Amino acid sequence: MALMRCASHPPEAMPRSYVTAVQPLGFPDTALLCSANGCERAALIWLEEAEKNSYDSGNRIFSAPAGAMKVRAV
Ligand SMILES: [Zn+2]
Repeated sequence: MALMRCASHPPEAMPRSYVTAVQPLGFPDTALLCSANGCERAALIWLEEAEKNSYDSGNRIFSAPAGAMKVRAV
């Protein structure tokens, strides 16, 4: 599943393997924030191989596991 992290906090390789990061809608002025503890930077969407293939085919909506992102309200 996709993970939301900023460029300074890329996801660990295990237990999942992320192959690329794409920008969320509105980046860098996005509500999507890095899931790392104490970080409030705009997040990128890190994708696994199957998700990257889906992205390359035109999909732009990805699910994240619990705790994989934070959001900022207006
Ligand atoms: Zn971060």
